[in-house]
Amino acid sequence: MQPYTPPKLNLQAFNCPHCNAYANQLWHDVIKGVNQSYSTQKDFRFCVCSHCKKSCYWFNEEMIYPNRVTAPLPNPDLPDKIKVDFEEARQIANLSPKGAAALLRLVVQKLCMHLGEDGKSIDQDIRSLVGKGLSRKVQQALDIVRVIGNESVHPGQIDLKDDPETTAQLFGLINIIADRMITQEKTIDALYEILPAAKRDAIENRDKPKA
Ligand SMILES: [Zn+2]
Repeated sequence: MQPYTPPKLNLQAFNCPHCNAYANQLWHDVIKGVNQSYSTQKDFRFCVCSHCKKSCYWFNEEMIYPNRVTAPLPNPDLPDKIKVDFEEARQIANLSPKGAAALLRLVVQKLCMHLGEDGKSIDQDIRSLVGKGLSRKVQQALDIVRVIGNESVHPGQIDLKDDPETTAQLFGLINIIADRMITQEKTIDALYEILPAAKRDAIENRDKPKA
């Protein structure tokens, strides 16, 4: 997966908030004119995406249009009903890191259900997935989002208000989980289907538990 480069003032290329492509940005000054006298407006700039040709507007260091959504897009293999929550979390991530983290915890809950768990207790669901052979790293990723999402909305030790960076990383974690649990499985399954049926039967016989 290509790393996600968030938009930044005067950066030559980043992931465009309109089309999400990693694309070159053409930066423009804004000129102000009074009585035929023109000068550069120092605090405003805009950039145009070389891929979708749409513009982003900046005031000082801040992107003011479009709504500064800097979190990555969801893994396309996530089920639609999970993507909806992921997208909602993206939209509010910069305004409310706490709210976004809580929504991402909901995403983990739904992801556990998608993986066959009952969704009543995320804790129990993760435990059950570990029992079914879930890798330790994926388990840790799930627990990170579970704990931070929970702590973020309760008085506790984690305060995301001053730490939007951590929230941004939770989105990346969800995508890593989706990649390991959905995308990689799908890719291997599709390739396995290419093997001749006789070979697949032989493999299954080889790995059958001995009576
Ligand atoms: Zn674009």
